[in-house]
Amino acid sequence: MSEDKPHQNLAIIGHVDHGKSTLVGRLLFETGSVPEHVIEQHREEAEEKGKGGFEFAYVMDNLAEERERGVTIDIAHQEFDTDKYYFTIVDCPGHRDFVKNMITGASQADNAVLVVAADDGVAPQTREHVFLARTLGINELIIGVNKMDVVDYSEDTFEEVTEEVKQLLKQVRFSDETTFIPISAFEGDNIADRSENTSWYDGPTLLEALNDLAEVEPPTDAPLRLPIQDVYTISGIGTVPVGRVETGTLDVGSNVSFQPSDVGGEVKTIEMHHEEVPQAEPGDNVGFNVRGIGKDDIRRGDVCGPADDPPSVAETFKAQIVVMQHPSVITAGYTPVFHAHTAQVACTVEEINQKIDPASGEVAEENPDFIKSGDAAVVTIRPQKPLSIEPSGEIPELGSFAIRDMGQTIAAGKVLEVNER
Ligand code: GDP
Repeated sequence: MSEDKPHQNLAIIGHVDHGKSTLVGRLLFETGSVPEHVIEQHREEAEEKGKGGFEFAYVMDNLAEERERGVTIDIAHQEFDTDKYYFTIVDCPGHRDFVKNMITGASQADNAVLVVAADDGVAPQTREHVFLARTLGINELIIGVNKMDVVDYSEDTFEEVTEEVKQLLKQVRFSDETTFIPISAFEGDNIADRSENTSWYDGPTLLEALNDLAEVEPPTDAPLRLPIQDVYTISGIGTVPVGRVETGTLDVGSNVSFQPSDVGGEVKTIEMHHEEVPQAEPGDNVGFNVRGIGKDDIRRGDVCGPADDPPSVAETFKAQIVVMQHPSVITAGYTPVFHAHTAQVACTVEEINQKIDPASGEVAEENPDFIKSGDAAVVTIRPQKPLSIEPSGEIPELGSFAIRDMGQTIAAGKVLEVNER
């Protein structure tokens, strides 16, 4: 796999059982990216059973089995490449916290493949994921109309599903220059090779469409922002916060500040993959050591930034949210838990400023009394404990959040403005 190629974070989204995992397996299989030990195991098993060679189905069974046992291969974080790009699959489709992860972005996806089963069409999670993709600023969507084998590769069915998805994209104002591809993740139609079963289709295969995605814009020149995942004490080194650099660079010798804990110092060492490095860049997972910082001075949810341009801490902030699922209505005073980067903080919806029409993006109502599922709104939020968060227009990586209540994600949002403490 060439790391020289430009990188893309890809999300595979869509309703449960529409074929996301199967598609990921198929993409890895077709690009020769299935982990070697899985292939080996299959060769052996297939030979034992007297079935020469090995089939895609076996590989899928194995991936599924390993996933169930929760051991090694997670469908997420798998990598494959096309001629032009190398892709990392972000987030695990079907994972319980998939929606939350998609929002708080363990790693934010640049583009996404939306899987829609031809025999089912647009389903509730198709809608939910498209809403999210739009709210969170996914650049491009490629639509895989999957399970074409189940509908006898019918062009009519493909057109019907395409039309249904186009309506949905229109509702959320997603670009209509979207590529729709009739595929079978299971049989392999139109993934790597053009399928004879869909002679009526003359568009690109899925891998061609992925290869044709626009290059991801280079990261902004935003200052360092490194949300803290955990804080360890390591003998011989001392306190070691760990986390992923979202923006900017972390440099040995620089002065950093942790917010909202409001402590700081000079970076002494940075470690990545068990090696000391002088600098860490966006995407790097690091452990580092800061002069004078003890284990109890900082915590998960803090954000590390330059001492002269420290992370913002919000007294209140204004945000645009989309309510995905709430059993009743949301009114001012509602105080659910907000998940933003690595922080989880109870926040109060202080004011519902405006209800927004998701189709036009225009204000539908000023100061509504309540909002409910399917509504988009601009709201004023007051964190109940200090929270570091940034306007998404300035630092998108630190500007989105999920709102969780009763064990589920009920809304997602982007920060418009921060009123700092
Ligand atoms: P996910 O929940 O979206 O990840 O869906 P899975 O990948 O687990 O697939 C759900 C079911 O649909 C499984 O039984 C798959 O074998 C089946 N499936 C997935 N893709 C196809 C396809 O292209 N054709 C057929 N016939 N079955 C498929």
